[in-house]
Amino acid sequence: RVVVGTKVDEHHSNYVRAYNMLTGIRFVVSRLHGKVDRELTEADFRAAQKYSFDMSGNELTPSTKYDFKFKDYAPWVFRHIRTSFRIDPSEYLVSLTAKYILSELGSPGKSGSFFYFSRDYKYIIKTIHHAEHKFLRRVLKDYYLHVRDNPNTLLSQFYGLHRVKLPYQKKVHFVIMNNLFPPHRDIHRTFDLKGSTIGRDFREEELEKNPRATMKDLNWLRRNLHLEFGPTKKDTFVAQMQKDVALLERLKIMDYSLLVGIHDLERGNDDNLRDKTLHVFQPGGEKTEEPQMGSLARTPSKMESQKRARELRATVTREKPVPLAMTADKMPDESHRKDFYFYADDGGFQATHEDDRPGDEIYYLGIIDCLTRYNYIKKAEHFWKGMGGHESQISPIPPDRYGERFVKFISGITMSREQAEKVRLSQSLQ
Ligand code: ATP
Ligand code: CA
Ligand code: CA
Repeated sequence: RVVVGTKVDEHHSNYVRAYNMLTGIRFVVSRLHGKVDRELTEADFRAAQKYSFDMSGNELTPSTKYDFKFKDYAPWVFRHIRTSFRIDPSEYLVSLTAKYILSELGSPGKSGSFFYFSRDYKYIIKTIHHAEHKFLRRVLKDYYLHVRDNPNTLLSQFYGLHRVKLPYQKKVHFVIMNNLFPPHRDIHRTFDLKGSTIGRDFREEELEKNPRATMKDLNWLRRNLHLEFGPTKKDTFVAQMQKDVALLERLKIMDYSLLVGIHDLERGNDDNLRDKTLHVFQPGGEKTEEPQMGSLARTPSKMESQKRARELRATVTREKPVPLAMTADKMPDESHRKDFYFYADDGGFQATHEDDRPGDEIYYLGIIDCLTRYNYIKKAEHFWKGMGGHESQISPIPPDRYGERFVKFISGITMSREQAEKVRLSQSLQ
């Protein structure tokens, strides 16, 4: 079943939920940024604040289009996290405004999560399970300290954790995170790599239908691909990955992967004009296709977004319509990412040769899906497989072995083109 990424407009079944998510974010974030920054306290990590929105409004919350409840978790901690990732608060609000239409990717797959892109494609909202939510809260301090000490972390950047509840519906938790893929560049190939071979093959036949589907470890190996980094970039990359994975091991996390999007500079963005598919998404192991809404659509210039941000700042706590006409052709401003080593080459990390000369590809990569704790279910599955049970899509080995295998696999495929050629020659001689 191929699910096509869809615009969340008034006719979409999740429109009201998505609209309220954005309304809630806008309210809590702008309210918080009205306060003077301060140091974090222990209590900030456990903090949570509930809000009730309705059409009539009250002294705390403005009147809204729909009735809903919203919960904001550890707002000060996430404010500090956003600051350390250099997210400008007003631009953040502009990207996540309810007046913007999101696109929804994927219906419930294996994990059941929904994915939404902000209209400018910078952020992803992912709905998460209660267990993942509880776990993130539990390890938030470790995550925060890691991010603070490792500005170049490859881990998913979590900018907010919230909960929305519509009348007569279940509570839904969600995180806001960075979209690793750029709004303005074609991703020619996408891989989700874990370092495992079990269930890690995307059917090659399917690729004919979906040339940009997210492929897996075996597809990567079959193509004899490498993350083509010369010694300097390789060392930095592997060192950071080791630090990040050490945290994941310590927190007993597993099932994460390295998401890799490859932009081929020689091919450039030409395909964009023929076929508007930016890349094919595969949440929950399902094939999902995202028709690119942003690439040919216009994106606001920096001046425009600043103007809009000013307007927004003035209106954030009142639900007044904000003029959001898109009138410029400029690419989104990615300059805040320039300071981050792995995202400094036009939002990504460019290949290099053995002598560190730049190569032909830009990699957009990061470690994603890192909220799964090695729990009883996995342990049970481990046991079951040990007894000769059936194979499954997950790789149920303990977190330290998972991490070790992950690092070994990724470091093993990281080498310059010249180095890869050497290895190939020496292997063919044997
Ligand atoms: P499962 O647990 O079955 O693997 P999931 O619902 O937890 O699924 P993820 O593994 O987090 O989903 O992500 C699924 C896909 O969504 C990824 O393979 C990737 O294509 C896309 N994706 C996830 N996070 C990001 C991100 N930060 N940037 C860009 N794409 C992403
Ligand atoms: Ca995953
Ligand atoms: Ca998952």
